[in-house]
Amino acid sequence: MTRLRMGVVGGSIAGCAMAVAGARAGAEVTVYERSDGELRGRGLGIVIPPALHRELTGVGYLDAAMPTVPLATRVWVTRVAGSRSAREFARQPGPVTACNWGLLWQALRRSAGSSPAVRYHRGRPVLAVERTEAGRALVRTESGAREYDVVVGADGHRSLTRRLLAPDLRPSPAGYAVWRGTLPLSALAGHRRPLELLRDSWVTLGFRGGHGIFYPIPRGAGEGEGADDRLLAYAIYAKPHGTDAPDTAYVREIADEHFPAEWAEIVARGAHTAMTCHPVTDLHAPGAAEAPFVLAGDAAGVTRPHTASGAVKALQDALCLERSLRGSASPAEALGRYASERTPEGARLVELGRRIGRAQVERTPHWESLDQAGVEAWCRDTLAGTTSYLYGGEGSGR
Ligand SMILES: Cc1cc2nc3c(=O)[nH]c(=O)nc-3n(C[C@H](O)[C@H](O)[C@H](O)COP(=O)(O)OP(=O)(O)OC[C@H]3O[C@@H](n4cnc5c(N)ncnc54)[C@H](O)[C@@H]3O)c2cc1C
Repeated sequence: MTRLRMGVVGGSIAGCAMAVAGARAGAEVTVYERSDGELRGRGLGIVIPPALHRELTGVGYLDAAMPTVPLATRVWVTRVAGSRSAREFARQPGPVTACNWGLLWQALRRSAGSSPAVRYHRGRPVLAVERTEAGRALVRTESGAREYDVVVGADGHRSLTRRLLAPDLRPSPAGYAVWRGTLPLSALAGHRRPLELLRDSWVTLGFRGGHGIFYPIPRGAGEGEGADDRLLAYAIYAKPHGTDAPDTAYVREIADEHFPAEWAEIVARGAHTAMTCHPVTDLHAPGAAEAPFVLAGDAAGVTRPHTASGAVKALQDALCLERSLRGSASPAEALGRYASERTPEGARLVELGRRIGRAQVERTPHWESLDQAGVEAWCRDTLAGTTSYLYGGEGSGR
C-alpha cells in the first residue's frame, strides 16, 4: 500500500507517533497541529514500560539519546499511625522508564520531521472532519479542504474526530482530582532516605482518602535552574477542594495533613517547577477505527491516570497501525485489524484505571496496618486477573 494519503489531526504524542507509523508503512502524511508553539509540560513526568522504550528506540521511533531515568523498584510508604514518621511497608519489582513528557514529544517530533514523507503544519487547527460520498475522509482548515484515504484523530481528549464517530460519548468523572507537578531535586536536600529511595525507585505514598506518586525524571531545557539534570515529578490524588485551579497551597495542605514530615517538607520546600490540576475522568470510544477514520491516544480513550498508560497507549497505537498497514491489502482491512486489537485494549485499561482508583483513592485501605504480604494480596485483588506493567506485568505495555 504505497502512497496512501494519510491526514493526522493533532501533532502531540499520538499525532507524531502515528505520523512516524504511517510514513514507515509507506504513506504520505500531513499532520495538522492547532498549537503554534513547542508542546511542553503537558504531561510533566510520565513513565513507560522499559520493553516499549527498547522497542521504540530499536525500530527508530525514538532516538536512544533521549534522556530517561530507569527505575527498578516500587516502594510503598505511609505515615506511622499517631506520628509524623515515615514507614516503608512494602517493596515490589516495578521496572519503569521515567520520561519528561516534553522531551518525549520532541523526540517523536524530530522522528516525524526527519521523514520526507511527513509534512507537519503547526498553528493549523482543523475545523471539521467529514466523510465524503465516495467514502474518503475530508479535513477542513482555514486554508481549504483536503481529501485523504485515512484520517487519524490524534486530537486529544476533546477530539473532534471522535465526535464524528461517537457523538454521544461523554467523560465519566471519578469524583476526585490529581495535582501533578515537578520540583527541583534540591527539594530533597537533607532528606537522606527519600533521596536514596528516589535514585532507582518510585514511591507510592498512601494516606487516608488518596495517595501520591513520586519519581525522578530528566530535566528539559528551560525547566528550572541548577546543576541537577533531574526533576522530582509527583502526582497526588485526593478529593478536590472546589476549584480546578493548580493550587500549590492546597497540595501543601494535603501534604501537611497526611504525609510523613520529611515528605511534607519536600512538597512544601521546592518552588514547584510546574503544576497542574485535573479532575480525574475517563472515557472509551466504542470503536478505535471506522474506515477511513482511526483514533489514537487520548482521542480514542482516556483512562484514569493510575494505569500510567495514556502515552503508552498512543505509542502502542502507532506500532499497531504500522503493523496493520504493512500486513493488509487495503486501508479498510488495516483499520479493521487496528480496531480489533486496540478497542478491547482501551476498554481493558479504562476498567483497570477504575479498579485502581477505587482501591487507592475512593476506598483507601488502612495503610498504617498494611505490610508486604498485605500489599501483595491487595494488588492481586485490585488487578483481578489482568496485568499492568506497574505491578510487574510482562510485555511492552501490560
Ligand atoms: C496525572 C497524569 C499522569 C499521567 N501519567 C502517565 C504515565 O505515567 N504514562 C503514560 O503513558 N501516560 C500518562 N499520562 C497520560 C498522557 O500524558 C496522555 O495520555 C498523552 O499525553 C496524550 O497524548 P495525545 O497526543 O493523545 O493527546 P494530547 O497531548 O492532548 O494532544 C492532542 C493534540 O491535538 C491538538 N488538537 C486538538 N484539537 C485539534 C484540532 N481541531 N486541530 C488541530 N489540532 C488539534 C492539540 O493542540 C494537541 O496538541 C498521564 C496523564 C495524567 C493526567
